[in-house]
Amino acid sequence: MSRIRVLSDHLANQIAAGEVVERPASVAKELVENSIDAGARRVEVTIEAGGRRLLRVVDDGSGMTRDDAVLAFERHATSKISTTEDLAAIHTLGFRGEALASIASVARVELLTCTAEDAEATRVQIEGGRLRDVAPAAHPRGTTFVMRDLFFNVPARRKFLRSEATESFHLTNLVTHYALAHPEIEFVLTNNGREILRASPAQDLRERAYQIFGAEFVGNLLAIEGGHPALVRVRGFTSAPRERRTSADAQYLFVNGRFIRDRLVRRALSEGYRSVLPHGVYPAALLFLEVPFEEVDVNVHPAKTEVRFRRAAAIADAVRESIRAALARAGFVRDVESYVDGKPPEDLIEDDASSASVALDIPTSNITNETLARDEQSSDSLSSSASSSFNPRPQPDAQQTHIGFNAPVADDEPFAYSLALDKIDDVKTETANTPTSTDADDNARDALRRNAYASSIAQSSDSQTSDVQASDSPTSALPQFDSASHLAREVEVATLSSNIRPLGQLDESFIIATDDEGLLLIDQHVAHERILFDKYRRMEATRAPDSQNLLLPETFDLTPAQATAFDHVQAELEAYGYRLMRLSGRTIAIAAVPADLPASEARNLLTEVLETIDAERRGQARASLRDRIAASLACRAAVKINTPLSTEKMQWLIDRVLTTSSPTTCPHGRPVILRITVKDIWKGFHRT
Ligand code: ADP
Ligand code: MG
Repeated sequence: MSRIRVLSDHLANQIAAGEVVERPASVAKELVENSIDAGARRVEVTIEAGGRRLLRVVDDGSGMTRDDAVLAFERHATSKISTTEDLAAIHTLGFRGEALASIASVARVELLTCTAEDAEATRVQIEGGRLRDVAPAAHPRGTTFVMRDLFFNVPARRKFLRSEATESFHLTNLVTHYALAHPEIEFVLTNNGREILRASPAQDLRERAYQIFGAEFVGNLLAIEGGHPALVRVRGFTSAPRERRTSADAQYLFVNGRFIRDRLVRRALSEGYRSVLPHGVYPAALLFLEVPFEEVDVNVHPAKTEVRFRRAAAIADAVRESIRAALARAGFVRDVESYVDGKPPEDLIEDDASSASVALDIPTSNITNETLARDEQSSDSLSSSASSSFNPRPQPDAQQTHIGFNAPVADDEPFAYSLALDKIDDVKTETANTPTSTDADDNARDALRRNAYASSIAQSSDSQTSDVQASDSPTSALPQFDSASHLAREVEVATLSSNIRPLGQLDESFIIATDDEGLLLIDQHVAHERILFDKYRRMEATRAPDSQNLLLPETFDLTPAQATAFDHVQAELEAYGYRLMRLSGRTIAIAAVPADLPASEARNLLTEVLETIDAERRGQARASLRDRIAASLACRAAVKINTPLSTEKMQWLIDRVLTTSSPTTCPHGRPVILRITVKDIWKGFHRT
């Protein structure tokens, strides 16, 4: 007897659903794409319980006739392609004809639809792939698709759904993407009865970005316009180097209007920022690639979020070049040949992606200062940035930052606080000693702070040039262990005595000290980070946060995705001393910040927490979320490297770090103390 059999349609649909329907957001993606393909001018998305209980998409598109409404749920039923040739040049978002069949096989679905010609609308009800009812109904032109109880008949899949917060985050992100891709369409997103996003029809991408992200974000964007006529057009916006993100969450990538995830494009984007942004720091970008249909294969994965470019390396080059050119136009890097309207440079055509980048390399060692200086100048004419760490001058709406800074604090560790203050003061004395410093002073001071901060991000021991080296030397990704590494070792806690005396500071970043066993090198930033981390964790445990009030609350516009994250982390942030208020819509106010945290870092930290608490972590236990916030706080508040310290401060740091829960490692797992033993020193001099 034959053992092979053809699967039933229902089973085939459920199998397809495994790929198409990963989570509520992937259902929303298919439905929103269908609405856009149907020529909708308005798309309204409503969700409940993270889309698991309810997901409704209402559009005013073409609608379907009664026959089509039933047929639409058949597997491989599509109105968008009909021949093999069509497959080679897909210009709609959908084309596989399997989305509705897949969704209907794993949920309870109701479709209401009406075309302009039909007098009467149609209602189709399907549950777990079974057609329940087809009946006349009332509905204006367009389509309403309601999905309830996702995976009600596939318990194994239901288990894999994340928390409501995670799923809401993905849904918000998805709608944000499509709203950006289609400024002409009105989008509304409502979550559990609360309006998360409303964007009326906009003129262009800039206006749409303004509706979604607010004036501050848009004010900092540089226009991208580049590419090569026959290959790819690159347009959109990218952020000035001041805008620094700790994740790639704020990068929105589209190919022919389709939102995609693509490592190649993402990497090319980062490469465009080489020498102006250190590793591990991401720009925000809205990047639209328009590629001739035959140059790109969108039929790579059922979810259609991956694409394959025929000439991938050349696309990457074009992206990097366009970014570079945008940065050059704004004066952030030295001008490069852009090939917007000409031919690509020859080496670009011939070389592969990796060697092509060499041809575009910019000598960086002497451009950096110039770049920084230009960055400073142009920052004067631009408005302040939410996540800029380096905004030199109090912007009109950021005055209170500095007021907050001077607010008296009742702190059991006044030293810790004054360390944070002093790092600013120390830098100030290097530039100007006047209390009313000029713009130039501010700029110079800021450049110094920027250097210090960039170095601390790059985490390189070579503090002066770490920013440049980290991003430019091809080997910088590898830890630079030299021959001395066997000499200086990480320290075991058990071997630490309280008898540690500081001798001085190396590179204004590392404390040199001695103890009974030899010489110690202490990373001042991570040592302070460990001290503060423990303090914040204690604070959180005792529920007695230490705050400093800002005289005037600082307001802050959240993106829709951030607003979703905010609801989730507000209580946690308040446990550490933040006091936050939700004003209208997506605007929040910071009324108080944690003690120790320089008020100028308050916004940055908030952005960082909202962005790095990424989707999956959101689903994690509260405890690990708290640890992450405490670690971010500690890092932001800790004394930076490249900061001179007095002997008393060094001693204070050493004494305090010894009493922490883990004196030898920082909250991110890096070593705090290295030791060179007397024995090794004797050995080194061949005296044993
Ligand atoms: P695909 O989008 O790949 O064609 P789907 O399963 O998503 O496949 O949809 C099947 C068909 O149903 C589409 O080709 C389209 O004709 C029709 N359809 C789906 N959603 C809508 C809608 N919102 N408005 C009008 N027609 C729609
Ligand atoms: Mg579709």
